[in-house]
Amino acid sequence: MQTLHLFPERPDPLLTIVVPCFQEEETIPEFHQRISRVVKRLPVTCEILYVDDGSSDLTTDLLREYQDGSTVRCLILSRNFGKEAALRAGIDHARGSAVLFIDVDLQDPPELIPGMVEFWQKGYDVVNMQRNLRVGDSWFKRMSARAYYWVMQRLVEKVDLPADVSDFRLIGPAPLAALRALDERSRILKGMIGWVGFRTIELPYNRAVRHAGSSKWNAAGLFNLAIESILSFSRKPLRIFSLISFGLFVSSICYLLAALVAGSFDSHHLLVGMSSFICVGVAMVGEYVGVTLAEVKRRPLYFLKNSSKPDPMPLHPSVSSIEGKKC
Ligand code: UDP
Ligand code: MG
Repeated sequence: MQTLHLFPERPDPLLTIVVPCFQEEETIPEFHQRISRVVKRLPVTCEILYVDDGSSDLTTDLLREYQDGSTVRCLILSRNFGKEAALRAGIDHARGSAVLFIDVDLQDPPELIPGMVEFWQKGYDVVNMQRNLRVGDSWFKRMSARAYYWVMQRLVEKVDLPADVSDFRLIGPAPLAALRALDERSRILKGMIGWVGFRTIELPYNRAVRHAGSSKWNAAGLFNLAIESILSFSRKPLRIFSLISFGLFVSSICYLLAALVAGSFDSHHLLVGMSSFICVGVAMVGEYVGVTLAEVKRRPLYFLKNSSKPDPMPLHPSVSSIEGKKC
């Protein structure tokens, strides 16, 4: 049993703002201006970490121009790996003890960041921004998001996945350390953040219209995200298949016995019996694969959060009341 301590040393800067960028030459200048104004007003030391996710327009040049090695840094990925990978790169390279994700297209207003920091300082480990108005999103995007949360909330057990919470969130030191301890390949960050737990709050906000350019998501991308989310966090589809197969098997046995007693048994009954038997076999294999998957991921069985009230955090949030345990 390995004990994992979630006590990062108090680093400087305290907060890293991670900004994934892909083909965003039109939005970056305005975003940079607005975020720079906000950062100056923040009561904590802060760095901006841009992650260029393999852009082929002027994004990389602009980011190189802004970086100064201390308060503004930029990571350049070797190709387009997708937003989830860009956020993961941000987590891996953040120097702050807490991380805040924000999109560069200004749909998430940077001016809301001080409010998020305030709740972090009040003792919340995760501050999620929850969209109550999605004026910037198309009808298709709104409907697919609703369907996604509807399915996920039914399939994923014991993980809090609040609806309409995207990646605009602040993750405090303890959940950040917990996330880094998860060594799996899953790219579904929102599921992982829900999974690690800790004290969380949702703050409502109005999602704005994109400043320029267009969304990088299409129907196929959203479908992939949904499938990957289900595969990463739920074994329920396998269990549903197993239960149906078992039900089918029991009914077919009754059907065969009835046919034998009535003397009407023929090849048709044999076929029904064999099919239900094969279904049960496939379901069993599925269940074993599900268990193997959980073993391969080696997720910690739990994290501990000290029950004592967190220290008031005027300028330097303390993380000493929280520890994690990995089994
Ligand atoms: N993004 C990224 N890699 C991608 C696609 C998007 O880093 O492959 C960034 C993008 O530059 C933006 C954020 O992720 O900062 C959200 O992208 P987008 O606006 O296209 O998504 P939507 O708001 O429509 O969900
Ligand atoms: Mg957007």
